[in-house]
Amino acid sequence: MQDYQSVLNNIYKELINKKDKGEVASYIPELKNVDLNTFGINLQVVGDKSYSVGQYDEKFSIQSISKVLTLAKAISIEGHNLWQRVDVEPSGNPFNHLSLLEQENGIPRNPLINTGSLVIADILVSQLKNPKADFLNFVRQLANDDSINYNEAVAKSEKETGYKNYAGANLLKSFGNLNNDVDEVLDFYFHQCSLEMSCEQLTKTFYVFANKGSCMLEKAHLNKSHTKRINAIMLTCGFYDEAGEFAFEVGLPGKSGVGGGIVALLPKKFVISVWSPGLNKKGNSKIGMQALELFTTQTNLSIF
Ligand code: GLN
Repeated sequence: MQDYQSVLNNIYKELINKKDKGEVASYIPELKNVDLNTFGINLQVVGDKSYSVGQYDEKFSIQSISKVLTLAKAISIEGHNLWQRVDVEPSGNPFNHLSLLEQENGIPRNPLINTGSLVIADILVSQLKNPKADFLNFVRQLANDDSINYNEAVAKSEKETGYKNYAGANLLKSFGNLNNDVDEVLDFYFHQCSLEMSCEQLTKTFYVFANKGSCMLEKAHLNKSHTKRINAIMLTCGFYDEAGEFAFEVGLPGKSGVGGGIVALLPKKFVISVWSPGLNKKGNSKIGMQALELFTTQTNLSIF
């Protein structure tokens, strides 16, 4: 039996006083007011207990972590037809990189980079009756938590400054890989990114990916084969041009966001969420990555 609480306590103690915690994302103005020293972890063992440390119940902006959730919704509607419009290869480039998209005729490398997620957003805008409300409902069902919501100020802040996302959406449109209006797709995308959750809520939401498609209270389900494929995409593409490093250091499928959150999981074993808002050069939580490296090393639990 592992003493998970001691492992989390030790990781917290080891990292909380680190001098270099990276830098809080400032390109979305609304995100830059977060305290660099906040740090929380929540672990849920599949079919068993939950363990926490630090500010695990404080909400933060999940940002790109939402891309996994929109993908899960879109694949539940479109099935594998989806892969005609977006590929499943790591990009080896930053999340907002654009020139590869032009070289590859408007087919994004994967659904976890920005342009890939914009294609997924386009699908949801086409297929859902009330896209923002229906998607929010889907997330609330996965988490079994109706308090989860968008942060309108964060969505607005990105709408005012998200020039690269406007460029990416227009590029997709020029290649015929966006069916809806650019502004409508971006409005949906900025809202999905503005979703706020605590580590604990994030863990609950992602439990479905560790539990072969069944949520914690079995109230919502995803197809098992879709779950398997989404985990594969998280492993190969979840950290953009740092996906190799994350697999090397941590060894789990996972996803990061520029709000400083990371969620990672070991299928059939556990889900773990970490939040520390300082980012490294690749836009991933600096302390978050170190915490997960310590966790999988100390517990000897990873997919490898
Ligand atoms: N909303 C952010 C963007 O589009 C998400 C990026 C991220 O979390 N990596 O730039």
